[in-house]
Amino acid sequence: MDDELNRDSSDLSSPTRGQGAKIIPLSEGSFTIDKTKLFIPFNETKDVLNERPVGSLLVEIQPFLVITSKDILLLDTGLGFNNNQGQLQIHENIKTTGYQPEQITKVLLSHLHKDHAGGVGNPHKEAFEGGDILNFPNARYYVQRREFDFAWQKGFPSFMPEEIEPLLHSHQVHFLHDDEGVIEDYIFYQHTGAHSPHHQVFWIKEEGEIIFFGGDDAPQLQQMKIKYKTKYDFDADKAMNLRMLWWEQGNKEGWQFLFYHDFKTPVYGPLSPGGGT
Ligand SMILES: [Zn+2]
Repeated sequence: MDDELNRDSSDLSSPTRGQGAKIIPLSEGSFTIDKTKLFIPFNETKDVLNERPVGSLLVEIQPFLVITSKDILLLDTGLGFNNNQGQLQIHENIKTTGYQPEQITKVLLSHLHKDHAGGVGNPHKEAFEGGDILNFPNARYYVQRREFDFAWQKGFPSFMPEEIEPLLHSHQVHFLHDDEGVIEDYIFYQHTGAHSPHHQVFWIKEEGEIIFFGGDDAPQLQQMKIKYKTKYDFDADKAMNLRMLWWEQGNKEGWQFLFYHDFKTPVYGPLSPGGGT
């Protein structure tokens, strides 16, 4: 028994840990959102949740960098807000990690709600030499075509047409049309239509490791653990059932879950004890 325990604890700190893909959450901070669908910054030290409108949700906004042996992936693009210096926050956050926005090779988009797609396009074309219209000038963007058409038609307040319009005009965009498929042999996507009518989720599979990005179909750890039906999902039953299915299968297979709206546990899985990175 003692041997067993020793082996377990040494496994946790063994050099093999972290040799797979590197996962870096890019937090843009905490926000409240209510039925106006506006994201209002929330400072935990000075703001009081009860003073926000009834029904306000407190959420983190958190795209992810995933560095695999083949790519530097960006999963969703955040709100697209600027910092005090007028620089895109997501650019600043990426640079803080030691990477450059120009190094991103693929952008995977779960859906186009403004807290996920706000950072896709470049509102100031001159910000990049050569006038790239997307914020990650060397990346291929993977977007579900039906989601784009829906967002374009539906518009404000859930979607911001002017922010996603650059997707229509860029050779960098690769529209996905199928219900499921594979990108370069190791990234798997599936159209779910749960949180939004054409939401999609991704599995990144490399060297026996499975990283799962469920976007807003699976936004927070807490929602995975309980049978939880939300008020805001397009197909709330489907979203709930998918979460239960993924949670069961993912734990069995040792997935690394990435939670876009979770401030406590952005990454959950066997390689991230305590939810760290
Ligand atoms: Zn969201």
